[in-house]
Amino acid sequence: MNNVLFDLHYSALIKMQQLLKPPMPKEVQFTFRKSDSTQFRDTLKDVRMRGIYSIIIDTKPENLPNLLTAILQIQMNNYKYHYHFTTFDIEAHNLENFRYNFVNMTAYRMVDSEHLMVKQVLRDMEKFQSVGQSILNRSNLEPALMYDSVFALARGLQALERGAVLRPVNVSCEDENPWNDGSSLFNYVNAAEYRGLTGKIQFKEGRRSTLKLDLLKLRTEKLDKVGEWSTTSGLNISNHEAFHEFGTRNITLRVTTIETIPYVMLKAGNHTGNDRFEGFCIELLQAIANYLGFQYELYFVPDSKFGAENTSTGEWNGLVREIIDKNADLAVASMTINYARESVIDFTKPFMTLGIRILFKLPSTMPTRLFSFMSPLAIDIWLYVLAAYILVSSTMFIVARFSPYEWHNPHPCVAESDVMENQFSMANSFWFTIVTLMHQGCDLNPKATSTRIIGAIWWFFTLILISSYTANLAAFLTVERMITPIESVEDLASQSKISYGTLESGSTMTFFRDSRIETYQKMWRYMENRPNVFVGSYEEGVARVLQGNYAFLMESTMLDYMVQRNCNLTEVGGLLDSKGYGIATPIGSPWRDKISLAILDLQEKGVIQILYNRWWKSGATTCSRDEKGKETKANALGLENIGGVFVVLLTGLAVAIFTAIFEFCWSTKKNAYNQRQSLCSEMAEELRFAMKCRASRQRPALRRQCSKCIPGTTYVPNAMDMNTQENGVMQMLDIRKSASPVHFECGDCRHHT
Ligand code: GLU
Repeated sequence: MNNVLFDLHYSALIKMQQLLKPPMPKEVQFTFRKSDSTQFRDTLKDVRMRGIYSIIIDTKPENLPNLLTAILQIQMNNYKYHYHFTTFDIEAHNLENFRYNFVNMTAYRMVDSEHLMVKQVLRDMEKFQSVGQSILNRSNLEPALMYDSVFALARGLQALERGAVLRPVNVSCEDENPWNDGSSLFNYVNAAEYRGLTGKIQFKEGRRSTLKLDLLKLRTEKLDKVGEWSTTSGLNISNHEAFHEFGTRNITLRVTTIETIPYVMLKAGNHTGNDRFEGFCIELLQAIANYLGFQYELYFVPDSKFGAENTSTGEWNGLVREIIDKNADLAVASMTINYARESVIDFTKPFMTLGIRILFKLPSTMPTRLFSFMSPLAIDIWLYVLAAYILVSSTMFIVARFSPYEWHNPHPCVAESDVMENQFSMANSFWFTIVTLMHQGCDLNPKATSTRIIGAIWWFFTLILISSYTANLAAFLTVERMITPIESVEDLASQSKISYGTLESGSTMTFFRDSRIETYQKMWRYMENRPNVFVGSYEEGVARVLQGNYAFLMESTMLDYMVQRNCNLTEVGGLLDSKGYGIATPIGSPWRDKISLAILDLQEKGVIQILYNRWWKSGATTCSRDEKGKETKANALGLENIGGVFVVLLTGLAVAIFTAIFEFCWSTKKNAYNQRQSLCSEMAEELRFAMKCRASRQRPALRRQCSKCIPGTTYVPNAMDMNTQENGVMQMLDIRKSASPVHFECGDCRHHT
């Protein structure tokens, strides 16, 4: 083929390829194969093996039948292939066997047999059987060109004759005498302009300046004109539809996929063919196949990878590679649409949207502590409260002592009484503050303004403290606290204790690899240096998460599925990006638009949602997040949560009993000393009395002189007796005036003899 023709056909092919397979790759590779008619089959096999699908065939018309037979024999006659013939008489060949399998066959023609003028000329020429027949059969372009050139010459001669007398002279090729009218004739021919069999005839400097070719494409019915090429405007395709016209019935597509729960899984048991597979994608594919009417044949991608580009070699692997190599017509899987992939293969409209998220092991719940009721307040707050308690009690004691209004006559009827009582002894002060801290009733009430101020401010303090404590206690005891060491992707990036990774050769991996965001770049650097953080499958990733100390960056749809089925798993943070899953096809595949339409329709009809619910929501093993949430909000408190209160109670009781025993022993010892009795007999006597006198609300003096202690009567011991007072009641009394007597009430006089 000479350069001009190559240019003509190559540019036409490129333009048609753009129609068939947009977008065109930036670089186009040419492979030239020369073959004689006996080797067509081998040559075609080689072309097929190299994965070449766009072929310009430049051969003599007589070789074309052999070539067409070879194409049929090695089955390179499907929609993937595009043959562009340089011959202008493609209409003369029998393409019957190619009409129905959507193989792309294009060629140019010069003679438009449909044109009225051409029809007329052909009819006229039929009268001259041999030439006319040859053009009619369109087996050779030469007669038409011959016709047009003779006609051009005739036009020139006619014009010459009109302008001057045409004097034909003999001219010899041997001598150099020119024919004088020759240049005039040349000029007239050059000026000729008319419609010939091969289109509009026009010359410029003796060469044909306008040339128009019809572009033909084989369609189911016949070869149809789908565009025009002209020297002025180049190729103009008028029928774009013709390039996307293919049937779907009775076509079996090779569909590649990859095993991923719940998209594509292998069924248990012995199954064959497509029946071996189940899952969301399998049902989606079936729905699309039913919709478009094609058959399919499923197979797993050999390297079990989704596909990523090797940045150093530029080679792709996985499903993407399978589609680039056109080993498969479709890749149906949870395959993410991204920029890098979209530039080498095509994707349909997304059938699912998702984003990257972090899968992490649910932190084991905080071990329940016996003293968790202490948790609402920090330990230093407890210490501050204790300090405040001591301070306020002491202040109360001192202030009450100073304030005259806190001193009162215990017997108001005896106005002259020398006895003054102050209720805020040291013990009572401490008692008052603790009782009010506990929000309990107390029969001690401050009377002086100063002590009342202390009381009021203390109450206010306890009000706030106890309310805060109660509120926080509820939160602490009823909510199971989940403490995840990482809360977001930033947390993950900024630590190195927990390792993290992605699926190998997947879009999540390439997301981090290609990202320009600082955090993700940092994460990629971390992952890149530890190749063992990448996992071969989702199952492996999940198993590693469950082992602990590993966060798996995965896609949210899959993550939801895993989290719903394994209650030990949880998601951390929000979505890192937003993208979709699509069905992959080779670039320019006519299936893309059809499948996209089918997906949109299935989406609008809710079929995809039904499939999603079936595979995600149903299933007995589903771990319901909501129930789990409720559980965490309303946990019944067990002994392990508030058992500590009981421990405190029991300890308090034990301390009280020991104190009572100590008091008993102490008092008995003193009594025994005073009575000059043996300790044992005094103790026995005391005990006996305690048993017998149990009905009495007021304990009489040990010498059983209860008559002295009749309520309302006042017993005034002498000064000497004062020394023998040992009971706590004594501490409650204050001797303002050092002189005796001191007033005792019944019950306070038990040691008086
Ligand atoms: N859907 C992803 C892909 O198409 C694989 C999963 C992942 O990388 O997390 O490559």
